[in-house]
Amino acid sequence: MSVRAGREFLAIPGPTTVPDEVLRAMHRPAMDIYSGPLLALTDGLLRDVARVFGTKGRAYIYIANGHGAWEATLTNVLSKGDKILVLESGRFAIGWGENARRMGVDVEVLKGSMRRAVRPDEVEARLRADKDGAIKAVLVAQIDTASGVVNDIAAIGKAMRAAGHDALLMVDAVASLGCMPFEMDAWGVDVAMSGSQKGMMTPPGLGFVVANDRAREVHKKAGLRTPYWDWTDREGEQHYQKYAGTPPEHLLFGLRQALDLLFEEGLANVHRRHRLLAEAVRRAVGVWAEGQAIGFNIVEPHERSDSVTCVLVNGHDPEALRAYCDKKCGVIVGHGIGELSGKAIRIAHMGHVNAPMMLGTLGVVEMGLAALGIPHGKGGAQAAIDWLGSEVKA
Ligand SMILES: *Cc1c(COP(=O)(O)O)cnc(C)c1O
Repeated sequence: MSVRAGREFLAIPGPTTVPDEVLRAMHRPAMDIYSGPLLALTDGLLRDVARVFGTKGRAYIYIANGHGAWEATLTNVLSKGDKILVLESGRFAIGWGENARRMGVDVEVLKGSMRRAVRPDEVEARLRADKDGAIKAVLVAQIDTASGVVNDIAAIGKAMRAAGHDALLMVDAVASLGCMPFEMDAWGVDVAMSGSQKGMMTPPGLGFVVANDRAREVHKKAGLRTPYWDWTDREGEQHYQKYAGTPPEHLLFGLRQALDLLFEEGLANVHRRHRLLAEAVRRAVGVWAEGQAIGFNIVEPHERSDSVTCVLVNGHDPEALRAYCDKKCGVIVGHGIGELSGKAIRIAHMGHVNAPMMLGTLGVVEMGLAALGIPHGKGGAQAAIDWLGSEVKA
């Protein structure tokens, strides 16, 4: 017996639900790549991707997922033997640093925790101790999708300046771009990257990188540059140079539509919608936690992200809960990864999401908790409804 007929709800932290408008925008014949509408399309996309990152710097669009965009950032500004500092707050900055290590970069991890945000004062102290400026770059994720933490990038940028250190600040915004503010220039970020398939509501396959003038200056001497990722090549005048070959035509039309949706709603409204829906999820989890089995992975409330919530399931099998939501109700929630594998579920509230999707997801998780006999406070979904009802005025 199940109640899963109808549209499936994908509540995993990427890929996310692709709007029907975006799917429709991609449904078209292939076209000439040397003339016509594609040239103007590229110019507009490069401009608007930079706009979403909040920068007057350059944008580059790769045919790649987030891992590819990671490699793009590293190869363009680093050389073999360079030292970098990776700020731990989950899995993703660590993974980015791991890629750098495999390219011959000397990687130091500033020890953090799976359960809390990066402490800017610890970053400042480490950089102050680096008297001869050996550290060339600092890597951090704005939202770490494994832990569900949000890092304060503005404060980290400030800490770096307070230390008087000129390492590049490089930020992974894969799970945050299009979900919360990103102000690259105002925050002193030198290089940032993201992908198409999370807050940007487009199928997987596009990697975004933005770089300011300082990063592009460092780039000139970088030893790890390779032809596909190279910024200089991509700055060439010819259209094919911008993609180092054939452009990902259909994905570009999809991205155009997704950006139009974001701008029509207004970025500030998009961020507010994410905040409201995230808080609705947190209200529900807070109530479930009264049963002692369920809890937040991120300890400090203000360090919980607005795009994904990592929910600990203590003493019970989170995979059984996920299976119930999927097989019985057609709602797919994320599993715990890294050290939280087998210990948590992750509820995404990222991208093309609205109240019925999130309330439906919460209702189904609560159904699953009841059906599986996992102790929990009753009325989590109700608390989410009450929250949204009080915040979203008539
Ligand atoms: C999803 C994600 C990535 C990796 O992106 P892929 O497209 O899966 O390669 C990197 N960083 C963060 C923070 C992510 O959430």
